[in-house]
Amino acid sequence: MARQQATSCPRNAGAERPLRFLFLEPETTEKSTEPSETEGRMETQMIVVMRTGADPDQIAAVCELIRGEGLEAFVSEGQERVVIGVVGTEIDRVSHVGTLPGVEQTIRVTHPYKLTSLEHHPDRSRITVGPAGNSIPIGAGAPLVVMAGPCSVESREQLFATARSVHREGAAILRGGAYKPRTSPYAFQGLGEPALQILADAREETGMPVVSELTDPAQLDLFDHHVDLIQIGSRNMHNFVLLRAAGQTRKPILLKRGLSATIEEWLMAAEYILSSGNSNVILCERGIRSFDQSTRNTLDLSAVPLLRELTHLPVVVDPSHGTGRRPLVGPMSVAAAAAGADGLIIEVHPDPAHARSDGDQSLSFPEFGSLMDELRRLEFLRSGDANRLVAAAEAGDGSIQDLRARIDELDAKLVNLLEERAQLAVAVQDAKGPAGHGHDVERERALMKRAVDTAGGVMEADELQTVLAAVLRASRSVQRRHAAAVDPPPTALA
Ligand code: PEP
Ligand code: MN
Repeated sequence: MARQQATSCPRNAGAERPLRFLFLEPETTEKSTEPSETEGRMETQMIVVMRTGADPDQIAAVCELIRGEGLEAFVSEGQERVVIGVVGTEIDRVSHVGTLPGVEQTIRVTHPYKLTSLEHHPDRSRITVGPAGNSIPIGAGAPLVVMAGPCSVESREQLFATARSVHREGAAILRGGAYKPRTSPYAFQGLGEPALQILADAREETGMPVVSELTDPAQLDLFDHHVDLIQIGSRNMHNFVLLRAAGQTRKPILLKRGLSATIEEWLMAAEYILSSGNSNVILCERGIRSFDQSTRNTLDLSAVPLLRELTHLPVVVDPSHGTGRRPLVGPMSVAAAAAGADGLIIEVHPDPAHARSDGDQSLSFPEFGSLMDELRRLEFLRSGDANRLVAAAEAGDGSIQDLRARIDELDAKLVNLLEERAQLAVAVQDAKGPAGHGHDVERERALMKRAVDTAGGVMEADELQTVLAAVLRASRSVQRRHAAAVDPPPTALA
């Protein structure tokens, strides 16, 4: 934590992740629009395996078909059979070659996606979201980006309250659905255009870029105006008209994985957008359908490191839709960050129990705050706000400095008190003698009860109890260690 806070981290400086995750980070550079060295290099795309004993006319017919489509065919004669290597970029033109007489099977040896592939673009892409001067970099080793907000924009009050809260907690991008593709036509469908205006107003106030889902190519102009990151939702991952439309804008696209899409189908969907002219695509793993009904979806976190091997595009994870269950969102966010995700997108609501969509998976404000604390504690997240406060204090804001000095003094006293308490616990252990063990559960219960009864200041009962429980745990471990030192266990087992 101390190391993190001391590290200044300007947004576009290509900041590194904690050292322990370096193994996930190959060489990175800023996104380049230059063609890569591998582009245009001719390699075998497909192998056509002929049946044993295929006759020369059949082999000639296969070669003719391949060459007739402008591709090259290289024949190798083995002991038993002939194989034909197919070289050229438009391999799909001969995808029917397997139906010709004498052909046993065809094997594709390269990925069907090109622009999306790591081979085509060996440097990982960093994509920026938001207006120049206030943009958030995602991918290629940039710090983890947290996007947060409600599933749907329900009202100005709901969205502004959420925006202010998640901003204060350190989210970088605000989410909010305006057009909701719901399973039921009777469910809340989103506020539509007014929601986009509310999002744009919240961006104005907080400075956070916004992400929202596009469901129809006709909305594109509107989204170009109001939205910084355009989401294509799971249900539309196979909507090729929408994907091509997304290729027409220069705004970055957040492409969610289809409900039952393979990794290859997902990358092919990205290929639609890239090949239509927009290379600013961020992939979002959001769980896939599986046989198990205990979670809404099965969050495929292995997709994160797998995609690292296949594509240069950034990958973010949506643990809200990925699990559908509030208690699982925090742990899976941490796991996603550990797997190397470039970002997280998390649903947050002021009153999840009364959300108009996806309340079961939405975090309350305090729950989201605790998750952000946890991500900071584990050093997945930089402490931007803390840095700003330090800067303010250093700039001569006397009151913060003064308050912090008093807190430091109290912390020092607490450490001394804890030491004094531990020494008394050791004395109790000595008085009990080496055989004595166990502790007085009644006294501990009484202590906890007193804590509940006296709570009522800024600390709530459960916060006080958490601290006291930790003190008791530490005290028992000191006693146990002391008892073992006085009366060591036998060194070797008979
Ligand atoms: C959403 O993000 O609100 C959403 C509907 O997600 P998905 O398309 O992943 O279901
Ligand atoms: Mn949702």
